[in-house]
Amino acid sequence: MTTVELSGVEGGDISVAAAISDRMFPLGTHTKPLSTIDEDDSSLSSTATDIFDSNDALTKGQWAYDSKGTWRRYGSSESATSTGISSICSSVLADKPDDQGIFVSMSKKRMADGSMKQNNSTPDIKPEDSPAPVTSTEITITAPLSESRSPAQKRRGRPPKDKTTIIPPAGKARRASMISKLQDRVRPRSSLPAQLPKDVFASECIEAAQASRLDPYALHIGEHQLLSELLMHTEVTIYLNIRNAILRLWQQNPLCSITVEEAAGCAREGRFFGLAEVAYKWLVRNGYINFGCVEVPQDELSLRRNTKQKTIVVIGAGVSGLSSARQLDGLFAQNSEHWTDAGERPPQIIVLEGRKRIGGRVYSKPLRSQVDGSLPGNLRNTAEMGAMIVTGFDHGNPLNTVIRGQLGLRYHLMTDALTIYDTDGQAVEEKTDQINTELYTDISDRAGDFRAEPQKFNTLKGDEELIDRARDPIVGGFSGFQLEPLFPVDNAKHRKPVLKRGRRRNAPPGTEKLTGRSRVIEESDAAQSAARAAKTMGWQLKDGVAKNQSISLRETARAKQHPTLGKVMDEAIEQYQDIVDLTPQDMRLLNWHHANLEYANAAPVSWLSLSGHDQDTGNEFEGAHSEIVGGYTQLPRGLMNLPTKLDVRFDHSVDSIHYNVSQDPALTTKVVCTNGEVFEADEVVLTTPLGVLKADAIDFDPPLPGWKQGAIDRMGFGLLNKLVLLYDKPFWDDSRDMFGLLNEADYHDSLDPAHYAKNRGRFYLIWNASKTSGRPMLVALMAGHSAHEAEKMDTDTLLGEVNHRLRKTFSDAEIPAPTEVIVTRWKRDPFTRGTYSYVAPETRAGDYDLMAESVGNLHFAGEATCGTHPATVHGAFLSGLRVGADVMEALTGPIILPNPLVGPSPIKAESSVQYHLPAISTAAYRPAIPSTQMVSGATMSGSITVGEPVINVKQEQDLADPHNAPSLSATTTKPPPLAKQPSGPPRNSVCAADQSFWLQSAAFESSDLDYEANIIAAILVALGDRPIKPSRPGVNPFLLFTKAKWEECRLHCAALASSTSSNKSSSASDGKEAIRGTIGKWWKALSAEEKEPFLLQGRQAQEVADQARREYEEGALKWDEGARRIRREFMVEHPPPAGSGGVGGKRKTNTSASVVLDYA
Ligand SMILES: Cc1cc2nc3c(=O)[nH]c(=O)nc-3n(C[C@H](O)[C@H](O)[C@H](O)COP(=O)(O)OP(=O)(O)OC[C@H]3O[C@@H](n4cnc5c(N)ncnc54)[C@H](O)[C@@H]3O)c2cc1C
Repeated sequence: MTTVELSGVEGGDISVAAAISDRMFPLGTHTKPLSTIDEDDSSLSSTATDIFDSNDALTKGQWAYDSKGTWRRYGSSESATSTGISSICSSVLADKPDDQGIFVSMSKKRMADGSMKQNNSTPDIKPEDSPAPVTSTEITITAPLSESRSPAQKRRGRPPKDKTTIIPPAGKARRASMISKLQDRVRPRSSLPAQLPKDVFASECIEAAQASRLDPYALHIGEHQLLSELLMHTEVTIYLNIRNAILRLWQQNPLCSITVEEAAGCAREGRFFGLAEVAYKWLVRNGYINFGCVEVPQDELSLRRNTKQKTIVVIGAGVSGLSSARQLDGLFAQNSEHWTDAGERPPQIIVLEGRKRIGGRVYSKPLRSQVDGSLPGNLRNTAEMGAMIVTGFDHGNPLNTVIRGQLGLRYHLMTDALTIYDTDGQAVEEKTDQINTELYTDISDRAGDFRAEPQKFNTLKGDEELIDRARDPIVGGFSGFQLEPLFPVDNAKHRKPVLKRGRRRNAPPGTEKLTGRSRVIEESDAAQSAARAAKTMGWQLKDGVAKNQSISLRETARAKQHPTLGKVMDEAIEQYQDIVDLTPQDMRLLNWHHANLEYANAAPVSWLSLSGHDQDTGNEFEGAHSEIVGGYTQLPRGLMNLPTKLDVRFDHSVDSIHYNVSQDPALTTKVVCTNGEVFEADEVVLTTPLGVLKADAIDFDPPLPGWKQGAIDRMGFGLLNKLVLLYDKPFWDDSRDMFGLLNEADYHDSLDPAHYAKNRGRFYLIWNASKTSGRPMLVALMAGHSAHEAEKMDTDTLLGEVNHRLRKTFSDAEIPAPTEVIVTRWKRDPFTRGTYSYVAPETRAGDYDLMAESVGNLHFAGEATCGTHPATVHGAFLSGLRVGADVMEALTGPIILPNPLVGPSPIKAESSVQYHLPAISTAAYRPAIPSTQMVSGATMSGSITVGEPVINVKQEQDLADPHNAPSLSATTTKPPPLAKQPSGPPRNSVCAADQSFWLQSAAFESSDLDYEANIIAAILVALGDRPIKPSRPGVNPFLLFTKAKWEECRLHCAALASSTSSNKSSSASDGKEAIRGTIGKWWKALSAEEKEPFLLQGRQAQEVADQARREYEEGALKWDEGARRIRREFMVEHPPPAGSGGVGGKRKTNTSASVVLDYA
């Protein structure tokens, strides 16, 4: 650690420090004199205390102060402003080495209900072993640009290709479909819990989908693109049921990855294994399952270590960089065959990090003074320099899986109790606080009228009622389903409402993402006149104000090409001043809310886009906000270390990237670091913050295309700073998690909103961080313009100011001197240059998506590439998962769909396929029962002897019923070849089009069939027919509605058609389609009340059907038991003939489709 100059105060000068100490705390209240004033020269970039996060010994930093106190980049002409963090401490203790690594023991056996057999579901937390040395020997590092490792010469153009490292791909065929393998190994339904009531199971599946940010009732846009052309409507429901059931397994125990066999076991029938395979592959690739700190299923690698291997370079070891590296590591392991088939090792991943620590903007800085035992589990005392709050674990936060499910980190659930103190130190009255909050919400709603409409994606939906009951439709069994409209669903409608549209108290739109509020207030109605709204809130209207007097923001909103939120909201405040008397305190309160918004967006409200500042609204998670006990850094540390340590190279600041935009194999992609090291890569993932990109800190060769650079330029990258104060004892209400402070305007008691902009963010919110740091600690926020001021102000001045405010607010208490003080200055930090992204006035809708787009083999991740959850840790994490899929796609191409995707329907005599089998001699066991009981709808009549019997071959044991059994014949004839008479695969469905799917005559010997026929005859004689599976009720509410409205709708459509000439020529089938479509729309437009009679009838029919189904299941169970017993007895009494393939008692299957001959 070096002591450096700080704002005129000589570091290490005890006397100056003492003088400052005395000046600021004249009452001598501080318990320990400040012994030194240290400026942590390593800034937010790193500290010597972070060595525990390193893989290897620290090397010389590539950034250094120059004589003018600015950061200068080694080997570069560019410079950055000085340090990002300063700290003053009075008690400096040696930092303990890392002692909180997390060890998670993982079990492999998952039960169908999602629980684990002999599973240690709570992660053990045990001291981490000392960091492993870098062992990788396969890393391709070319020689430094200059042998002597002199500063890297800035150079343009692409480094020459290193021929020795590029070997053309072996060109082996891609991995074949897994489905054929599954047929032999997996029983359908084996992952579905038999004991769990259906409705409980269904709701667990639905919740699992929601917890994965997926619509349980509709395809994700990615699934839609993959499958929409291939699935029949009924198959969409089946697919969704399978996909939701897989997610259920994962959500119930993310300590254990899901295997493809488990996924296949989520299908109810073997012919849907193809759907299960697609769901599995899609969920894995896109990071919905098997992500985070979990061991994944992988094949043994038997290849020699020097075998060819691709290299992926990830730049940045923040949460997005680590999550993408971790995700790629898992994807490569799960898809290792792709490379091993081609004689390669799966790619290696190298993470290059400019700092000496991981985490980036997640940085829990260890306090200099550590108190043993102040936190459970030997956790260290830390202060959060960057991210601090997990904004709710529920409803889709992926960090729930990692933080709670895998790492088992301790966390503190925050409460939303908040007292706001005015400038005189008095607490603001609750009523005043409330009506100002409501007024602010009303104003923000009115400004919200100018919001851009969010983009919508409509995708195919499944049958909600069936999914709600975890049931699959019967394919081909119920024509009503085919009547249902095939138009995509509006997904937004199905999204579980996250919040009522009313806002969390004190939290206008968007702010929930970072603040800890959870109280919901009633929605204010922006359509109401302003006067009426104000009155409803409890404001006293000014004399002479009419009830319908309102405010108009249109002119301000339209005045500029790029209007700002701040301008319009301030206009609204001014216009409200004509309606109600706003006092200076009201103005301070309204500006406190502005400050809160400025915190959430890291920018003054006057810098925010009016139309798009809260473009991510609606994606908020649910549940109380929380903080990680012992520091948020445990998350990136877990991502780096578990289940195996990632190869992170610290102190590797990237200077230039020479990437391959044309996919020209003659060009090599190289990543050049400021220390002269060059990494050759096949794919590059860049996760540096938007601030770094905006500052042109990295050279791109070729330069980034205009569309990418345009998005970088248009988007905003904001600032928030913190002042951390550590005390010996708390003097505040330690049960509270936060309190607010109002700030004075530039001019005392001004009523002009503009006069509040500069100061309103100064310490406007102070967090009590004692619960998570283990020590009495306050964290004061500096938002909006104050965040920028903090970059220029020295630490002493800031400390003096905050102390002044605290003394006023807690006047009764003795306020001691803080024992440690830390100030963040994120803008100065060369590796961030700000805090997080925001939607600036010039930002266009879709710019976040452009940020996420790859350019050739250069891929992008980071919070600023996640439009749904920007500016957050979970957004960064999600971007890492997304880029994992991008890189996989680049390396291996799109997901390969199994063929067939869906097997053929169960064969019914009356419907689809009949196999004409030879007549079989069964004289000895001819049952004296009418044949109609044996073969429904078949050609038998009167007796068991049938000239040309029909065998109906079923795929699944549990679907088989006696009328599908091989029928018996008195005479043996030469078997004719099996003749397939399928009705053909359904339109738009990848069905069993190839011969291998169908029963092959060669697979069966006639002796087997004779013997089997005898067994069956014995069974039928003893037990009679197996109960017949009841048909479905056939009264779906929509079908009932269709029937009721068909005529009316037909007339309606006819009238419509005759009024438009173009429709006159349309065919009858077009007409039916039009009627169906229109009825579908009518149905969609019905209110819940109007639908109720149809729903009721549907429910009643369902109840009857359920009862019949239960009876059938009981009867069939009994029958099957009896049949098994008789079969055993028969086989003992009559051993199978020699040479028999063993049909009796054994399954004989066609390997490609599991065609099952026996059923008992
Ligand atoms: C003060 C503050 C408070 C916040 N509060 C919250 C909160 O309460 N909750 C929340 O969810 N989010 C919060 N955030 C946002 C959250 O921290 C970020 O969105 C998230 O951590 C960003 O992760 P990232 O991987 O995208 O970027 P980063 O974490 O910045 O990672 C990028 C990495 O790239 C490295 N790098 C940069 N340049 C180079 C280079 N040239 N060569 C090599 N490496 C380089 C950096 O050192 C860094 O490690 C806060 C952020 C800040 C700063």
